Amino acid sequence: MCENPFEERYLVIAEKPSVAMTIAAVLGCKDRKDGYMESPDCVVSWCFGHLAEYAMPELYDDRYKNWSLEDLPIIPENWKLVVKDDKKKQFRILCDLLNNRGKAVSSTGRFTDRPFNYVVNACDAGREGELIFNRVYELSGSSLPVKRLWISSMEDDAIMEGFLSLKDSSDYRNLAEASVCRAQADWLVGINASRAFSKVYNYRLSVGRVQTPTLSMLVERCEQIDHFKKTQYFVTHLLVDDRGKMIDAVSENFADRKKAEQLASACNGNTATVSSLERKAKTAAPPKLYDLTSLQRDANRLLGLTAAKTLNCAQALYEKKLITYPRTDSKYLTDDMERTAADILAACRKVYPFLSPAELTAGYERDQGSAVPQGSAAPDIRRILDSKKVSDHHAIIPTIMITRADLSKCSEEEKKILTLIAARLVSATGRKFVYEAVKATFSCCGYTFVAYGRNIMEEGWKTAESAMRSHLHVEQEETVEADPDEGKKQAAGMVKIQSLSSLYQGKQFLNTKTKVTDHWTKPPAPFTEDSLLAMMERAGANEMEADVERKGLGTPATRAGIIEKLVSSKYVVRRNRQMIATDAGKQLVSAMPEYLKSPQMTADWENRLLQIERGQYDSRSFMDGITQLIRKMLQECGQIDEKESARFDKDKRNIRGMDSRENLGKCPVCGSPVYEGKRSFYCSNRECRFVLWKENKFLERMRTCLDDGMVKDILSTGRTYVRNLYSVKRDKFFSAYLCMEWKDGKSRFSLDFAE
Ligand SMILES: [Zn+2]
Repeated sequence: MCENPFEERYLVIAEKPSVAMTIAAVLGCKDRKDGYMESPDCVVSWCFGHLAEYAMPELYDDRYKNWSLEDLPIIPENWKLVVKDDKKKQFRILCDLLNNRGKAVSSTGRFTDRPFNYVVNACDAGREGELIFNRVYELSGSSLPVKRLWISSMEDDAIMEGFLSLKDSSDYRNLAEASVCRAQADWLVGINASRAFSKVYNYRLSVGRVQTPTLSMLVERCEQIDHFKKTQYFVTHLLVDDRGKMIDAVSENFADRKKAEQLASACNGNTATVSSLERKAKTAAPPKLYDLTSLQRDANRLLGLTAAKTLNCAQALYEKKLITYPRTDSKYLTDDMERTAADILAACRKVYPFLSPAELTAGYERDQGSAVPQGSAAPDIRRILDSKKVSDHHAIIPTIMITRADLSKCSEEEKKILTLIAARLVSATGRKFVYEAVKATFSCCGYTFVAYGRNIMEEGWKTAESAMRSHLHVEQEETVEADPDEGKKQAAGMVKIQSLSSLYQGKQFLNTKTKVTDHWTKPPAPFTEDSLLAMMERAGANEMEADVERKGLGTPATRAGIIEKLVSSKYVVRRNRQMIATDAGKQLVSAMPEYLKSPQMTADWENRLLQIERGQYDSRSFMDGITQLIRKMLQECGQIDEKESARFDKDKRNIRGMDSRENLGKCPVCGSPVYEGKRSFYCSNRECRFVLWKENKFLERMRTCLDDGMVKDILSTGRTYVRNLYSVKRDKFFSAYLCMEWKDGKSRFSLDFAE
């Protein structure tokens, strides 16, 4: 790139310093200056993420400092951007460069003092990157022509290729327009709705365009759980001895224990016959490659990582050139990537030998010479290719750099995320999982009992999946695409999937045994980040047209941030992996009008933003719609009656002064309220020394720490039930009661495995 036949000089602006350094190295830009890198041909500088953001209302007019209903709606005519204080210095450097001012010229070489001919927007290739660059460019008043670097990988070759085929910035005008609309809509709804509702209720409420409908889904689930009435039921089991192996068949459910017991005693010791045997051949296709949301879901489900943590890890891996661009919503590669995919697949097997057990490579080793191996076990690369399902970026896969890089420089979590991504490429190109679902019906004394079984014919892609799970010490999956029937009973803990391969119709068993078990109906499971991300992705799906790949609440890149916002505003707390709405969250949702919390409606707005991106919808119509929504909201706010607007009054004493903190329970030493601090939970009585540290060695060894929910339990009952505790010795996760005792001015923790 040092050869420049047109003797043009250009400026490159990246999203972050680390990315700028990588690009500068590829461009041979070696001269380090204050705030940029320089060579005779080019200068590479950087932003620190968002340098500029939309100004708060008080910067438009002083009177907005006080919140008042009369001043609403606040709808800026000319939107103001402000640069954050700690980023002002870098912003000034960028301004000088963008306007060909100051010392942005080389002191070496003959090109000194040549101005830039154009600027390259090298911010991340997505909506956010577009917004970050455009805001700085706009504020600087620059008139340099803009070109766009659009790459899906940080590898040197990809960067080089990207610079040789720079795009015209106008290609991304629709994307830029949609990103502006999204940011302005968020500002308008957030500012106006938060101020309006806070004033009407005289209580601080934080409302957001995507945040509030997401919270509403969480609240709805929590309420289903709270109001769930569990009922007890009983099941009779028929146990037959199939040459030393017990087969467990179950009756229907009985509401009455006596009936189950009568059945048990009627059948006990009698003869049972296999009256019917149903076998159904089933297959489970390999999973698709990861897009960001599915990666975040798996990382949460398998590793317990938050969506935000996974995004950070993926971004770090991308910047280390180890994976392709992570903020993608595609699960496919483009049709021209067949060769690349085969090479990377081979690299994954080399770096992660456990992904290549004998069965998987049976046909592969033989044909190692060719790019796409033939044979029965050959990876099926074509099934992960589909250019029609790739818009901005293809699915997340490792890069060829994984064979050369020193992976020990990655954090433990980054390594695990990389393993997930590599394993997914292997299983996505694997063979089908083939099995036979068996349903056996036994009759005994005129009653029927059912047992479910599964015979695995071919493990297929599941081999790689379970190899990955055992490598990462994750529990193996127990259920696989079961019959709805089979699945329901299994979830209720009633039946196990067992091997029934030796049964045949008419087979008889003498002297059967019976037993009765009792069960409770279960409420729906609380949301985890995994299931919440799935709901956000699916929200409004019914209302959408054929476009099934992109929809829902928020975008893949913003969902993690929305979840974090709900947690930091204390509308939601994390309890282990569960996401629980707080009382404040429930209150907020119950006060919101339907159109501010309806996931369907928000998904519909989101779909219009997508249409803007594709040039199919006018951005002015979109913004008109948003301002109409705000006017409607204000009008309705004016009609809220006194009784309704007093609904938060009883909570008000909690928001003044000291009492803004939640009282988690009574101190076991002196009985005063216990509050949450940054690193500990402490007694509010200054004389008292009671404190529980969030992190301690005992908990750390089991990969957990105390949260407010656990402390509430401990303060009221002395113990709390914890799932996903880790045992180093057994290398397994388990559940137990964590018990706390306060002795000699110290907390002592122990485990209790009793029910
Ligand atoms: Zn105390």
